[in-house]
Amino acid sequence: MPSILLTNGRIYRSAWDETPADSVVVGDGKVIWIGAADAAPDADETIDLQGATVIPGLTDAHIHLFAIAHARLQVPVTPRDASTVDAALTLLAKRSSEIPPGKWVFGAGLDENGLAEHRLPTRAEIDAVIPAHPVLIRRFCGHVAVVNSMALKLFGIDDGVADPSGGAFGRDAEGALDGSATESAAELIFRSAPPMDHADLVAALQAVIADSTAMGLVAAVEAAVGFTIGFDGEAAIWNALRAAGTVPMRLGFMNQLDPVEASSRGLTPAPDADWQSISLKYFADGIVGARTAAVSEGYADTASRGFFMRDEAELQRVIGEAHAAGWQVAVHCCGDRAIDCVIEAYETAQAAHPRDDMRHRIEHYFVPPQGGLARMKALKALVVTQPSFLTRMRRSISGAFGARADRCYPARSVIDADVTYVASSDAPTGSWSPSATPSAAPPTAGRRSGRARPSACARLSTVTRWAAPSP
Ligand SMILES: [Zn+2]
Repeated sequence: MPSILLTNGRIYRSAWDETPADSVVVGDGKVIWIGAADAAPDADETIDLQGATVIPGLTDAHIHLFAIAHARLQVPVTPRDASTVDAALTLLAKRSSEIPPGKWVFGAGLDENGLAEHRLPTRAEIDAVIPAHPVLIRRFCGHVAVVNSMALKLFGIDDGVADPSGGAFGRDAEGALDGSATESAAELIFRSAPPMDHADLVAALQAVIADSTAMGLVAAVEAAVGFTIGFDGEAAIWNALRAAGTVPMRLGFMNQLDPVEASSRGLTPAPDADWQSISLKYFADGIVGARTAAVSEGYADTASRGFFMRDEAELQRVIGEAHAAGWQVAVHCCGDRAIDCVIEAYETAQAAHPRDDMRHRIEHYFVPPQGGLARMKALKALVVTQPSFLTRMRRSISGAFGARADRCYPARSVIDADVTYVASSDAPTGSWSPSATPSAAPPTAGRRSGRARPSACARLSTVTRWAAPSP
């Protein structure tokens, strides 16, 4: 690989660098020199940065690259594509008009926060415009599904269906299914849908990774292998990428598996030569947007306190087993009841099998429990958070908590409590681009919208080894 001198820039060695250099030489996959232009060694190629800023490559500690790729193979119905329920349905109906009756119409990126009506479309509304094709829409968070009547029929689900544990089917005032499903009920639907084409998924994932590097990411942690189409299906796609040897990022994986399921697949906590890190991931509760996060004080706008995705004692037992087997554990916890339960599991596990290196994580830490941060500090556990949620979900957060919203999604208080604070995107739920600002639209997903704009950053990110410490 030829060496490249980047000069006439502001080149930061870290976030704390107060005296940026003006030149850097990269070669052979590494930064090999940094300093003032007049002392720069010879390089094969020179790029004049014209005063531009260069920062170390970034690590996204919690992202769903697979889900972004999966969404690219569907009709995009994000608020950027459609700002009303009707407009979203028009996009889906257009797709249905292009394919034979009976073929599936998949939509992705739906977010009622960005629709004028502030609600999801109903089964009846979809039926009215798409009566002869099964329709499955995935809310941008992946925790909620919306389907029409033909899809329900193909799944064998009717009004008499009971809610599975850790999930619910939405119903109208008469008790009939309204087409929505949350958490484990949504998962049931996603798992029952026909799979996408393997080669299409591999290509979409390669494109998503290329776009991520163009945004300055050099490393990322895939935040739940198994969350989108199930573990084995997703692992097969990642292994295809590994075999192709064309992954220009360092990747870590949080596998959504119990320890016994991991070991039956030959997975161990030992470092993997190809990947950056491997951990196990669980979902303690749901999300604030769907009012399924397990909170101790009821929601301001919904008569509910959310729920656990699996039995609390069972969750704590599995966390203990994973800890004892040497795994790093990451648990999705939004509500304070869920966070409290998981901190307790970490404490119990650590007391039974003390480990210096556990670095267990809590993803989101949305509604902080009283005294939780002091316990997190004692455990040296990590809070993995998503700053862009605050702007993306502000309407939903204030609806859910009213004046209590001020306590949600702590950042400064996490840092002040001396707990490791790890920022991440959780894209596609949060803003994918690290440089996205609240007023700027993040890069659009979906085939028809094209790729994120490549930049000089793309070239650098493939050679720089300055990623932040792995999460
Ligand atoms: Zn996530």
